[in-house]
Amino acid sequence: MIKIDETLKNKIILKYLLYSVYIIITIALLLTVLGQPHIRNFFVNIENQTFDVRQNLISNYKKVNKNIAIISVDEASYEYILDKYGEWPLNRGIYADMVEFLQTQKPAVAAFDLMFVKSMKSAHNDDLKLAKSISKYDNVLTSINFDNQEFSLRKPVDLPDYLKANVQNDGDIDFSPETFTNCRAILSEIIDSTPNIGHINLIREDDGIARSIPPFVVYKGDFYPHLALKVGLKYLQKTENYSKNDFKIDKNGQIHLKNRTIPVMKNGSVILNWYGQSGLNNPKSFEYIPFWKVEKTMYGEENLVPKDFFKDKIVYIGTSATSLFDLKSVPTDKIFPGVEIHTTFINNLLDNNFIKRASFHVDIIVSLLLGLMVGLVTLRTKSTVISSLFTVLAAIIYVIFATLLMFYFDYWIAVIMPVLSMAVVFTAVYIAKYILKSRDFEYQYALATTDGLTELYNHRYFQEQMIHNVETAKRYNSEFSLIIIDIDFFKKFNDNYGHQSGDAVLKQVAQILKKNVRATDIACRYGGEEMALILTNTGNKDAHVTAQKICDTVAKKVFKLANDVETHVTISLGVSTYPMNGQTPQELIKYADECLYNAKENGRNQVGSHD
Ligand code: GH3
Ligand code: MG
Ligand code: MG
Repeated sequence: MIKIDETLKNKIILKYLLYSVYIIITIALLLTVLGQPHIRNFFVNIENQTFDVRQNLISNYKKVNKNIAIISVDEASYEYILDKYGEWPLNRGIYADMVEFLQTQKPAVAAFDLMFVKSMKSAHNDDLKLAKSISKYDNVLTSINFDNQEFSLRKPVDLPDYLKANVQNDGDIDFSPETFTNCRAILSEIIDSTPNIGHINLIREDDGIARSIPPFVVYKGDFYPHLALKVGLKYLQKTENYSKNDFKIDKNGQIHLKNRTIPVMKNGSVILNWYGQSGLNNPKSFEYIPFWKVEKTMYGEENLVPKDFFKDKIVYIGTSATSLFDLKSVPTDKIFPGVEIHTTFINNLLDNNFIKRASFHVDIIVSLLLGLMVGLVTLRTKSTVISSLFTVLAAIIYVIFATLLMFYFDYWIAVIMPVLSMAVVFTAVYIAKYILKSRDFEYQYALATTDGLTELYNHRYFQEQMIHNVETAKRYNSEFSLIIIDIDFFKKFNDNYGHQSGDAVLKQVAQILKKNVRATDIACRYGGEEMALILTNTGNKDAHVTAQKICDTVAKKVFKLANDVETHVTISLGVSTYPMNGQTPQELIKYADECLYNAKENGRNQVGSHD
């Protein structure tokens, strides 16, 4: 039975204790969860997906730089080339002609996202012609690619110093994922004649999606810049007279280029800000022109390129045909040509809108603050509907906020961890509240069924239990007994010793009852100084034994009253048993009462019998 006073006192302490424990558990849980590399990876992957969703949403409102044009070997061009020349890769003389043709339109920069690999050379003269054209113009660039091929298959070549970049790494960037042991050799005539070569390595994440680009790779201990970075810088040199080959990554992982910033991640990558779906037919994409149109125009077959189409533009030459395998998945599209990833980098560089990823600390602090807010609101709100509505709304508002932050400030703040934190804290606080509520319910229930003075069950509970026991015994064909107890000459006792002493005796008799019955038996205060015992699953004989034992115990007991007065009281008892003495609670009570009456008649201090 619950001690009522103690419960009241403990309630407030318990409440605060529980909440403190829960908040500590919640925070510990979050930290432990995020400390595990596998779990952390899992969350990084989901977080990346939210990045893709946000990028998809906001890409509709972004505008690409129309000074970037792509000459693309698309499906139609590829077919045209195979038809006309019967081979791919193309004879390099054609690219040499394209360089010359482009120069007539005076582009700012022309870059090949095509590798003029050494091993594939066909006509030596044409290779030389291309090398000459590329080295002739300062604004023409081409690409190189690094990998980790076995030395035995291919010997790593030495690259000239003018291809290297000076990188001062104060930002503690770990370039090991971007470190390579081998390099795919391109025509030595090109390597030997121009510094305008950049690498075209790419980063794909665990889920196969390319979200970032490595601005530098490390090969034989030296840094080599990305082609897109070189093209972007070449453009700035032309348009803003700004040039640079020494790069300083500051403490915050940022490279400053005049008034532009390249935020480099700890793994040496730069997260791109994407511009929706790619393609020839997407007016929001970069300016596209199919290779075959340029080819026909430059050979005078047909005039398909407007006169100053390439003037002052960055012209990137690459492939987008599916069969040429240069297709990647990016956050905003499943089939994205590699060349467009480059132009996205350049566009980000020119518009100074690379994605800045919030640090882990920022994510943690935001998560804890949001968790705390939800926890407090849930704690203080009585209605579960309102607190859960608040939590859901807070999460939605936060996600919208994070999306707007990405749109307006190119800032990537975590979504998964904070939302998870809100959900975890809400659940934890809710469970804590629920436990307290059920304790409260228990307390209320105890209050409603207990007699305040004796702490026995009260009369109402007694009645309920009588009905319940009759039903159970009936169903299982079992028996149970009832003992009714009345203190002898209690009126006189009260008169002699006072009402308070009477109360003390009542309490002590109640204690004796409780001590002398089984846990499954029910001791009640029936009324005034009358008490009752329901003995479940007990026959008449056993009930009589129990009744006699209680009678004797009370008679022997020395009751200590105030002022060291010692006294004795006796009780009279009546017993009845279901089903032999009655079929209903009323009949059973009546029978036991009659026995009790007989006990009184026969001199009290005894268990009465029925006639
Ligand atoms: P007997 O049962 O032996 O016939 O005599 P009795 O004097 O006990 O007679 P009865 O059962 O009729 O009297 C009940 C008395 O019990 C009346 C009242 O003074 C006393 N009583 C009932 N409830 C309480 C209580 O809560 N506290 C105290 N101190 N006395 C109570
Ligand atoms: Mg009485
Ligand atoms: Mg009495």
